[in-house]
Amino acid sequence: MNDPYRQAAEALKHLQPAVAVTGAGISVESGIPHFRGQGGIWDKYPPEEYATIEAWNDYPDKVWAFWMELMETLWDCEPNPAHYALAELEQMGLLQGVITQNVDNLHQQAGSKSVIEYHGNARYLVADKFGHRILLDPEIHSGDTAPRSFDGTPMKPDIVFFGEPIPSEAVVGAARLAEGCKAMVVVGTSAQVYPAAGMPVLAHQNGAFIIEANVEQTDFTRTITHAFLEGPAGTTLPKLVETIKAL
Ligand code: NAD
Repeated sequence: MNDPYRQAAEALKHLQPAVAVTGAGISVESGIPHFRGQGGIWDKYPPEEYATIEAWNDYPDKVWAFWMELMETLWDCEPNPAHYALAELEQMGLLQGVITQNVDNLHQQAGSKSVIEYHGNARYLVADKFGHRILLDPEIHSGDTAPRSFDGTPMKPDIVFFGEPIPSEAVVGAARLAEGCKAMVVVGTSAQVYPAAGMPVLAHQNGAFIIEANVEQTDFTRTITHAFLEGPAGTTLPKLVETIKAL
């Protein structure tokens, strides 16, 4: 039985609980570019200048202007069939949750209920030094300079900048899911950004069946993946759901 869809479908049906780990690739078909490689965002905006916590602390308004440019892309984006496929798997009782590296909120918009955001959510702002979050409102907050909280502190987009720790509840929640799962679906991630990239490795060490969906092979494909679904996730994940339904 070499059909990877059949193998992946059998695994999801019989090896529970299962979880998904998603990266920038799942949102490419929603119109959000991924960051790495030729034509990626980091080519135009070097991350050390625009995406580190030091940059934010030193010149928040310059960093803010960059993120607002990104937000112009994010606002109008809609979930694509890959996001809906994961939401449907959760509804079918075959997915315990999604651990995402993305900050675009598209899993929630597609209907996924259990979402762990490893790198935060760009639709929110950290409003004060106590860490309270407020919804970013383009009508109010889209000026050229970062909005200030009551004490004058610039309100930071609720995303994890380079040099910042991952929120502890995300680390703990994701590790719990990754350690305990018997199958994991890894979608659109290059396997390069740690610690998030450690989750599939952790799941594999604990004996989980690894399903990977990507347009190209990654370090995971060559080392830990059991079933590789090659192609755009907006095509491969709905096909996986259909295969499960046909079992
Ligand atoms: P990455 O940019 O390093 O890798 C993207 C991966 O997606 C690659 O392996 C690529 O082959 C694959 N891919 C591209 N198009 C695809 C498609 N249609 N279907 C399936 N796979 C596809 O992404 P990463 O590993 O997630 O790391 C980048 C970091 O930047 C993340 O941690 C994330 O926080 C952040 N980021 C977020 C967004 C977002 O919120 N949408 C977008 C860009 C970057």
